[in-house]
Amino acid sequence: MPVAAGSTSPKLKTANLGFPRMGRQRELKFALEGFWSGKRTEAELLETAKTLRAEHWKLQQAAGIDFIPSNDFSFYDQVLDMLVLLGATPERFGSGFVTPERYFAMARNSKEQTAMEMTKWFDTNYHYLVPEWSAGLGFGVDTTKLLRELREARDLGTETRPVLIGPLTMLQLGKGVDGFDPFQLGDKLISAYKEVLGTLAQQNVTWVQIDEPVLATDLPKHAIDFFRRAYAELAGSPVKLMLTTYFDRLGDNLHAAIEARTAGLHIDLVRAPKQLESVLAALSPEQILSVGCVEGRNIWLTDFSVAESLISQAVETLGAERVIVAPSCSLLHVPHDLKAETKLPKRVKGWLRFAEEKLSELVALASSDKEEASANAAALADRAGAESSTNGSVRAKLTALTESDFTRKSPYSERTTVQRAELGLPLFPTTTIGSFPQTAEVRKHRAAHKNGHESTDAYEAFLREATESCIRKQEEIGLDVLVHGEFERNDMVEYFAAFLEGFTFTENGWVQSYGSRCVKPPVIFGDVSRPEPMTVKWTDYARSLTSRPMKGMLTGPITILQWSFVRNDIPRSQTAWQIGLALREEVTDLEAAGIRIIQVDEPALREGLPLRVVDWEEYLDWAVKAFRLATSAVEDKTQIHTHMCYCEFEDVLPSIAALDADVISMESARSKMELLDAFKAHGYPNEIGPGVFDIHSPRVPSTDEMRGLLGLAMNVLKPEQIWVNPDCGLKTRGWPETVEALTNMCAAAVDARSTFNT
Ligand code: GLN
Ligand code: ZN
Repeated sequence: MPVAAGSTSPKLKTANLGFPRMGRQRELKFALEGFWSGKRTEAELLETAKTLRAEHWKLQQAAGIDFIPSNDFSFYDQVLDMLVLLGATPERFGSGFVTPERYFAMARNSKEQTAMEMTKWFDTNYHYLVPEWSAGLGFGVDTTKLLRELREARDLGTETRPVLIGPLTMLQLGKGVDGFDPFQLGDKLISAYKEVLGTLAQQNVTWVQIDEPVLATDLPKHAIDFFRRAYAELAGSPVKLMLTTYFDRLGDNLHAAIEARTAGLHIDLVRAPKQLESVLAALSPEQILSVGCVEGRNIWLTDFSVAESLISQAVETLGAERVIVAPSCSLLHVPHDLKAETKLPKRVKGWLRFAEEKLSELVALASSDKEEASANAAALADRAGAESSTNGSVRAKLTALTESDFTRKSPYSERTTVQRAELGLPLFPTTTIGSFPQTAEVRKHRAAHKNGHESTDAYEAFLREATESCIRKQEEIGLDVLVHGEFERNDMVEYFAAFLEGFTFTENGWVQSYGSRCVKPPVIFGDVSRPEPMTVKWTDYARSLTSRPMKGMLTGPITILQWSFVRNDIPRSQTAWQIGLALREEVTDLEAAGIRIIQVDEPALREGLPLRVVDWEEYLDWAVKAFRLATSAVEDKTQIHTHMCYCEFEDVLPSIAALDADVISMESARSKMELLDAFKAHGYPNEIGPGVFDIHSPRVPSTDEMRGLLGLAMNVLKPEQIWVNPDCGLKTRGWPETVEALTNMCAAAVDARSTFNT
C-alpha cells in the first residue's frame, strides 16, 4: 500500500461526491447564456462543457482522489438530467429523445410553455427542477449523457464513479400531476434504475454513487416501504452501490439504509457527527463506510483533529479497508478555487478552503500527513487568536441582554392605538415592499461608480434624482406609505454586509444558484458590528421630500445569515444575534431621524429550518429572537413591518406571530390568498398585507381582480388588519407596468374603503 511522505499509517481511500461545474471563470454560465441568446452555436456550448469536464477530472486525479465522480456535470440541473436518463421528463413537453431545445424549454420559461417549477435543494441555495410525475410517463431510458461522461473520463485515463440520484429522492422531491400519487410509478421506476445499472455493469463500471439525501429527512411510512422494496432489487445489481446521504443524520431511517444492503454507505459527519457511533454499530460486516468529514457546503478549513478522530473511530471498528474519506456532500455548493482571490484579507484567506483546496484536505486526512496536520493546526490557531474573530464589546453586549431587550414596550393591542393616532392612515392603507424598478440606467450608474468611471458625487446626485422621481411617482399614484426605492442597493444582503465589521467579500466565490445563475455570498468571518449607520442617509433624504410617511427598509438578521457563508467556529445563533444587535442600532437611528415606519425583511426565515422537524423549535426560537432583538428597541408609536415571500409559511405561523411585527406583508396573489385561512385559524392578531399582485410577471392585474382578492382577505380578516401591497419588491419590473399596476391597486383599496363609509 502506498505511504505518503511524512505519514505513519497507510493511505485510506478518498472520494469526491461532485465537483462545481461552472468552471473557474464561470465559463459554463457564459457559454449557456451565449447559446440562449443565439451568440454561440450548440457545438461551441458542447465544446466548452467538454473542456470543463476534462479539466475538472484532471484536477481531481492530480489531487489524488480515488473515487472521482462522473455524471455530476449538468447543463442546467442534475434532477432534470436524472429525468432525462430515466425517460421521465414531464409529458407536457412532449416525449421521445430530449433535444437541447426541449431540455432548455423544460428548464426555462418560453412563449409557448411555462418551465418546470423550481425549488430549493433541501436547505441549500441551489434550486432544482421539480419532477412532474404522471401515469403516462414512458420511462424510455436514455443513457447517452451518463455513458458519454464515463467514456470521456476513460479517454483521459480516469475511471469514474458515476453519480445517480436515487429513486426515493426522485419520487419524494417531485409532485404528482393533477393529484396523481407519484409512488404509483414505483415499479416502473425500479425497472428503469435496473436498466441503467445493467448498462453501467456492461461497461464494466464497478461503483455507482446513488444519492438519497431524503434519507436525512422525516419520511412517511409509504416512502420508507418503497425505499426497502426498491433497494431489495437494486442492491442485487452487479455494480456496487454507494448509498449516499447528506445534509443531516439518518436518524430513524438508519435501519432501512443499512438493510438496503448496498456495498457502501456515505454519511454526513459534519452536520451530524453524533450519528457515527450508531452507524458503526449497525453496519453489516461487508459494508464500506464513506466518512463525510470535510464540509461540502461551507468554505472554512476543516479542523483536522475533529476529522481525524471521526476517521480513526471508523477505522478502529471497520479496518482501513472499509473506510473512505469524503466531503460531507457534493462540492457543488462551494466555489471552485481560492487561487484567484487576490483581494481577500490575507489572514482570512488562510482560513478558507474552496473545492480544489478541499480535495487536498481529503487527501491529507486520508494519508495522515503530519506536515499538513500541523499546518492545519497552525491555521486554526491563527483563526482562533485573531482579534477580528472576537469583538469584546459585541460579546459583552450579547451577554448583558435580558428578556426586555427582546420585547416591545407595550403589547400590539396598545401599540396599534398609538400608531393609528400617530400615522393617521386610512383603512386598507396602501404601500409597496421597498424596491422600485432597477432600470438599465440605474445599473449603468452603479457599474460606472464601481469601476471608478463615475465619481461618488455624480453617482449620489443620480441616486438623489432617482429617489426623488420615485417619490413623486408614488405620490401621484396615491400610495399612503412611501419608500425611497432602494436604488442605492445592488442586493439586499451585500449592501448591508459592506457596512458591517466581520464581513468580507470574495472576487470569484461564485456558487450555482440555478441554471446559469450564480451567487457570490458575503463571508462572515468575525464578530459582527456596525461602525456607522447604513441606511439613515438615504431614508432621511427621502423622508425630507414628502409629507407622507416614509418607510425605512432593512434586511433582517436571518436573511443576512442565510445568504452568506457563515463562520463555523461559533454557533450560527450567536452570529444571528450579533447581526440582530447591529440592526437594532440601525433601527434606533432611523427612529431618531424621524422615521415612523421601519420594515425588516425576512424572506429567508423559513429556508433556515432544519431538515428534521424535531430540530425546528430550537432554530425558530433563536431566529425569532434575532428579529425581535433587531426591532424591539423602538417606541410604541414606531411601526415595525416585516416581509416574507418565496415559500409557504403555514407550518411556521406561530413563529411568524412571535416576531410581533406590527404589520407583515406576504406573497399570496398567486395562491389566491390561500394563506389567509391559516392566519385566520391561528388567530393572527396583528396587521397583514397579503400581496394582491404577482411581481414576477409583467402582466398588469385589473382593479377588479385586486379588489376581488381584497374581498377574499376581508372574508377572513378584520378590516383594520388589512394592508394593500404587491407580493414583493418591484426591482425586476419596468416603470410603465409598475405605475399601472400600483394605480389599479390603489383604486381597489379606495373601492374597498368605500364599502365601510357610513
Ligand atoms: N425590500 C426588498 C425589495 O423590495 C425585499 C425583497 C425580498 O423580499 N426578496 O426588493
Ligand atoms: Zn419578497
